[in-house]
Amino acid sequence: MNLHEYQGKQILNSFGVDIQRGYVAQTPQEAVEVAKKLTDETGTSWYVIKAQVHAGGRGKGGGVKLAKGIEHVEEVAGQIIGMDLVTPQTSAEGKHVHQVLVAEDVYYPGDSEPSEIYMSVLLNRATGKNMIMYSTEGGMDIETVAEKTPHLIFTEEIDPSVGILPFQARRVAFNLGLEGKAFKEMTKFVTALYTAYEKSDSSLFEINPVLKTSDDRIIAVDAKVTLDDNALYRHKDYAEMRDLREENATEVEARAKGLNYVDLDGNVGCMVNGAGLAMATMDLIKQAGGEPANFLDVGGTADAERVESAFKLILKDPKVKAILVNIFGGIVRCDRVAQGIVDAYKNIGEIKVPIIVRLQGTNADIAKELIDNSGLNVHSVIQFQEAADKVQEVLS
Ligand code: GDP
Ligand code: MN
Repeated sequence: MNLHEYQGKQILNSFGVDIQRGYVAQTPQEAVEVAKKLTDETGTSWYVIKAQVHAGGRGKGGGVKLAKGIEHVEEVAGQIIGMDLVTPQTSAEGKHVHQVLVAEDVYYPGDSEPSEIYMSVLLNRATGKNMIMYSTEGGMDIETVAEKTPHLIFTEEIDPSVGILPFQARRVAFNLGLEGKAFKEMTKFVTALYTAYEKSDSSLFEINPVLKTSDDRIIAVDAKVTLDDNALYRHKDYAEMRDLREENATEVEARAKGLNYVDLDGNVGCMVNGAGLAMATMDLIKQAGGEPANFLDVGGTADAERVESAFKLILKDPKVKAILVNIFGGIVRCDRVAQGIVDAYKNIGEIKVPIIVRLQGTNADIAKELIDNSGLNVHSVIQFQEAADKVQEVLS
């Protein structure tokens, strides 16, 4: 689950990470109110107004703007709230901006040497360790840095069973070329950031930029946070941060029905039980010259009701030209699933795209008979390869 910048900063702050402070606002008028509050608390007179959407690169798209004085806040917030923000990380239609973060300007005017640092904490799956990735080249996208100047990216691996050790935090500060107060502040920052990542059960914390001011403060200016969905049950307060407006509507609906669905760009919808089989099925579709339109794991209890819900989800996607159902009957009986498909077909009404069903396992033969005798536009096959051939046939 992804968070907004302001939510990520709240979590960071609760673990003692120094952040660029701010308040979220839904309207330009509210932006003025919170700007006043911010001035009371921080003394700032310049504000940075930032679109809160689940996408990076907002600055480039005009979603981050400076208001040089309280009198400009309403106008600037008005320009950003309601816009469809297009960034290198959004689709061409962009993301609708419902709210902005009104934050203190932490780039002091006339400051010749604020420096922008990149820092992220994530899991290195290859080593099974957490990893702090950092660079002196903050502010721009890290992919470009990785491509053009890979030697300017450092990593520090943290053993999750031990946690971050003081010498590791010092090594980060040292590699960033910091000295004196900034060095000490950075070791505190890194330690608090790692703790926030670990204690919140996140899979990513990306702070770009971390700002070093000329008076040696180290501040998180941005925050991109991804929480691990599987750990949300023990973070009820974070779970409430979910913003459904930012998520794919079909994926939201699938989650409510307990289906594991990910929207993709292809033309073949798939319905599979088990994540591993779903991955193999997507490979098979590609091999047959199609592209998967989705990942859908209906889970171990592929009963008639779930089969029908799954069909309805897949059919919402206008790009779908065929549907491949690939179910292995272990605990679940194939004839039950087949009956579910036949019922769903009748309940949903006319399904215009061909359906290829491969049922293998317990009672597969009875299932095939059921489908073949149903008189519906459903092709039943038993072998994996037959399914691929059939997909190819209906697509051509
Ligand atoms: P992103 O473009 O979505 O990554 O959004 P960021 O939060 O990283 O902001 C984009 C850029 O806006 C940063 O790289 C900074 O250069 C700039 N920015 C952010 N906060 C401030 C601020 O307080 N003052 C000034 N002058 N610029 C800021
Ligand atoms: Mn950023």
